[in-house]
Amino acid sequence: MRPRYILIFGPPGAGKGTQGRRLAAELGLAYIASGDIFRQHVEAGTELGRIAKEYMDRGLYVPDEVTVKMVLERLGRPDAERGAVLDGFPRTLPQAEALEKALAERGAEVDLVFYIKISEAEAQRRVQGRWVCRNCQAAYNLETNPPRVPGRCDVCGGELYQRTDETPETLRRRFEVFFEQTVPVLEYYRARGLLVEINGKQPIDAVFRELKAAADRVFGRIAGSGSGGV
Ligand code: ADP
Ligand code: ADP
Ligand code: ZN
Repeated sequence: MRPRYILIFGPPGAGKGTQGRRLAAELGLAYIASGDIFRQHVEAGTELGRIAKEYMDRGLYVPDEVTVKMVLERLGRPDAERGAVLDGFPRTLPQAEALEKALAERGAEVDLVFYIKISEAEAQRRVQGRWVCRNCQAAYNLETNPPRVPGRCDVCGGELYQRTDETPETLRRRFEVFFEQTVPVLEYYRARGLLVEINGKQPIDAVFRELKAAADRVFGRIAGSGSGGV
């Protein structure tokens, strides 16, 4: 079977990470989030982390060259052989082009694209309460999705911390950048008939049910069409 690729778009706080991890686990695909990889580099104090942090803390995108190289390397690892759920990549048209090219080289393409929509006011509420695991990057929310043990990750027991790019000013800028640079990418996938829009202002389980149903429709169709190969 050829590898499968699902993209998840949405403004900050839409629930991309929460849903993307769960969908990837459900479908047996790798979960790859560019923001998580950048934060891992920041935590580890690497040169890439130092460069990325300068942009992240200002709410700006990290340059395409740096981002594309990092994500394509990750996509080539063995655990992504069956495909991946990509969260937060591509965010610009050049990133989308680089992704298409890399997937075409392995006889694959983007199969399905989600756009999880929420308002800026809802995002503001959510990111204020967001705590992230230092170790595995899973996100929690003090109000809507609290960890079982305060301050500790349910998945790995890691310490939870608050991101340094969640001030109201940075969030405003991240929303602007999303509409300026990433909505054109979404429109490109919409024109290709791949886009499924989801109302992100529903409980976590309700959003997940919609994503899963759409994935079942698309992959059921691929499996049924006989075009998937072996
Ligand atoms: P959120 O989950 O709030 O949408 P992410 O964790 O995905 O944010 O990304 C955090 C930051 O990492 C972004 O504001 C940006 O600086 C950087 N980043 C993540 N993905 C990309 C990308 N594809 N291109 C450029 N910068 C990115
Ligand atoms: P993104 O990756 O799009 O920035 P996250 O998945 O990190 O978003 O979610 C943002 C915050 O909102 C987190 O604190 C998360 O626990 C919480 N959250 C995610 N989905 C929902 C939802 N459907 N309802 C309420 N809170 C949510
Ligand atoms: Zn963890």
